[in-house]
Amino acid sequence: MSRNLGPDGERALPKDHGQGHGGAGQGRDVGTYGLEDLALASRREGFKFFNSTLFLELLKKRTVRRGCCIRSFLSAEVITIERDNQSKEKRPMKMKPTQGVSYPRSGHAPVFHIAKRYFGDALIYCDPKKKKHCGCGSVPCSNPARTFSKNHDFGLHRSVGVPIIPSEHYFIQYRNPVRSIVSNFYLHRNNHPDMAKWADWETFARRCISHWNRFVDKWVLDFPSDADAPFYCGYETLIADPETRVREILSFLSDEPLDDEAVARILEQHPIAPRDRLSAFEFYDPIFFKELEDVTAERLARLELPSFAEEI
Ligand SMILES: [Zn+2]
Repeated sequence: MSRNLGPDGERALPKDHGQGHGGAGQGRDVGTYGLEDLALASRREGFKFFNSTLFLELLKKRTVRRGCCIRSFLSAEVITIERDNQSKEKRPMKMKPTQGVSYPRSGHAPVFHIAKRYFGDALIYCDPKKKKHCGCGSVPCSNPARTFSKNHDFGLHRSVGVPIIPSEHYFIQYRNPVRSIVSNFYLHRNNHPDMAKWADWETFARRCISHWNRFVDKWVLDFPSDADAPFYCGYETLIADPETRVREILSFLSDEPLDDEAVARILEQHPIAPRDRLSAFEFYDPIFFKELEDVTAERLARLELPSFAEEI
């Protein structure tokens, strides 16, 4: 067997040369170590976190000269990076248990995804329509461990809906009614592809504008003044300045100091951007849209919401 091959036929690396750089290996080998070399050394040294992507990143930044002390290199470079990553991903975060109440298609999903990435396992979610996550199926959520929940208060179609609990921590979202109703129609039709006629859209829209009025009356305009102050988040303000809004939201969801670095990283990886398809809507009709808005013009003004016709 060649001196350069290990017991498994792998190319052998210099063993740990002790303290410091240069040491015993200096001048013996020429060139640099590559990914395979580092992987082999990593196993030998008992580093359990070998990660080829991470090592490739390291090798892009810095060549590892043959003969250098492999243990020192791995310890200094890899362990530091790995520890930093672990502390970032597993930092102990706590959430204030919060009830999310939103009119459909007003930005609940992007806020949930950002919060999930930020809080990690501390976010215990409840979507009453889905079995995954909490799975209790009740509104409001009955799980005492839950830290964030979804609720569109659909009961307002028929009655007064779910009770407002004054001591609860509420995060409330709404949006221009025309834009949210059109977006909701797209979603609704995924399950009801037979709703293909103008009359189907008109019936849906008139039913929804009535729900929208009741929703903003109850959760925003007539919200009990003696209850804990909710956080109100208009979709339009979230889109206009996601960074500011997300920082405010995450601060509302936790008493812990905001991790600015984590917020910046998450927003860079998962930007919040409008996905509006209003002009492409097959029943696009500004006259009918205006008629819908006129039903609720006073509320739009009090909430300072833009008209459907304004670009956001
Ligand atoms: Zn639940």
